[in-house]
Amino acid sequence: MNFEESLKKYAQLIIKVGVNIQKDQCLMIKSPLEGAAFARELTKYAYEAGAKRVYVDYNDEEITKLTYTYATVETLGEFPAWIAHGYNELAEKNAAFINISASNPDLLKDVDPGKVIAYQRATGKALETYKRYITNSDVTWCVVSIPTAAWSRKLFPNVSEEESIRLLWDKIFEVTRIYAEDPTKAWKEHTDNLAAKCEYLNSKRIKSLKYTAPGTDLTVELPKDHIWLGGGENSTKGTYFVANMPTEEIFTIPYKYGVEGTLTSTKPFNYSGNLIEDFTLTFEKGKIVKCSAKTGEGMLKELIETDEGSHYLGEAAIVPHGSPISASNTIFFNTLFDENASCHFAIGHCYPTNLKDGTKMNKDELEKVGANTSMIHEDFMVGCGEMTIEATTEQGEVFCILKDGEWAF
Ligand code: ZN
Ligand code: ZN
Repeated sequence: MNFEESLKKYAQLIIKVGVNIQKDQCLMIKSPLEGAAFARELTKYAYEAGAKRVYVDYNDEEITKLTYTYATVETLGEFPAWIAHGYNELAEKNAAFINISASNPDLLKDVDPGKVIAYQRATGKALETYKRYITNSDVTWCVVSIPTAAWSRKLFPNVSEEESIRLLWDKIFEVTRIYAEDPTKAWKEHTDNLAAKCEYLNSKRIKSLKYTAPGTDLTVELPKDHIWLGGGENSTKGTYFVANMPTEEIFTIPYKYGVEGTLTSTKPFNYSGNLIEDFTLTFEKGKIVKCSAKTGEGMLKELIETDEGSHYLGEAAIVPHGSPISASNTIFFNTLFDENASCHFAIGHCYPTNLKDGTKMNKDELEKVGANTSMIHEDFMVGCGEMTIEATTEQGEVFCILKDGEWAF
C-alpha cells in the first residue's frame, strides 16, 4: 500500500471509528503545527461524514518553549479565560474532540518543573467543564498521533530526519491496523475481543488485585460497583466511539483508599515534554507516601503535589506483554503508545464511566464512594514479561488475570 493511501485510511478511520462523527456535529482538532496536512485530511473526511463545522487548534512547540522560558510562573498560572470558554462551550454543544499527541519528549527538559505544574494546574482548573465532558464520555473524543521531526529523531537517531519520519509513520500505521485489508473491520474484531475480556472480569465481581513483578508488590482494592472497560464505549448520548487509537488495554477504577505497597515503572514517562524514568512509588491507604526517580525526580515530585487527588490512583489498566505495540520492541516516549504496550496506572482523576452510575455523580459524590478526583490524569507504565496479577473475588475465589505478562484466562 502506498503512503497516500495509508494516510487516507488512517484519517477516515479516526473520523468514522475514533470520534464517530454524527450529522451536524462540530469537531475540534488539536494538532501540532507540523500536522497541518493531516489536520486538513481529517477536516475533509469530517465534513464528508456530515460535520457542521470543524475547528483546528494548532500548537507550535517552539512557541511553547519560548513561553515557558520567558513567561513568569505567575503568568503561567493564569489560563486565558477565552480559550477555556471556547472548549467548555464546544463540549456543552456536543462537539467531538480529536487530540493529536506528538510532543517532543525533550522539549521542556531545561524548564523549571514549577512552571510546568503551574500551567497544568491552571489548565486543569479552567477546563474543568470540558474535562468532565471528556472523562464522563458525554462527548466523543479520540487521541491519535502523527510523527513530528523532533519526536521521530528521538526514536530513530541514526537515520536521516526524512527516514525517521517515514519509519515512525510505518509503526503508527502498523499498530493502528491500517495495513489490515479492511481497517474498520479489523477494529471491530479487536474491540469485540477487548469487550469479551471485560465482560468476563465484570461477571467475576473482583474485590482486589495483587500485582507482582521485579520492584513491584502492590495490592489494589476495587470499589464494589466497578466496571471494566476496553476497546470502544458508548457516549452517554449513545454514540459508540474509540477514545484511543491505538488501544490495547482494559481498565477499571481503583478504590481510592485501598492501594498498598510499591510500584516500579518499566518505561519512561513523557510528562508534557519532560522525561521521568526509573521511578518507584510507595502507597499507604491509597496515598503516595514516598517517590523516587533516577531521571526527572523533581518533575515527578511536583506532579504528585499538583493537588490532593494527584497523590492517589485513578485508573488501573491491564495490557498483555505480547500486545502488538509491545512486540514492536520500541519505546515511543509517548504515553498513547507506551501505555498500550504495558500494564499501567494513572495518578489523578478516575473515569466515572468505570463505576455504575458514576457519570451521574458530582465530585463530592464520587469522592464519597472512593472514586478519586483531581485536575490531572497521568498514565505511567509498570508492566513487563514477569508481571503476575492475581484477583480475589467477593466470594473469596482467587484466580490469575495475568501470568508472566500474558492473559491467564
Ligand atoms: Zn489507560
Ligand atoms: Zn489513563
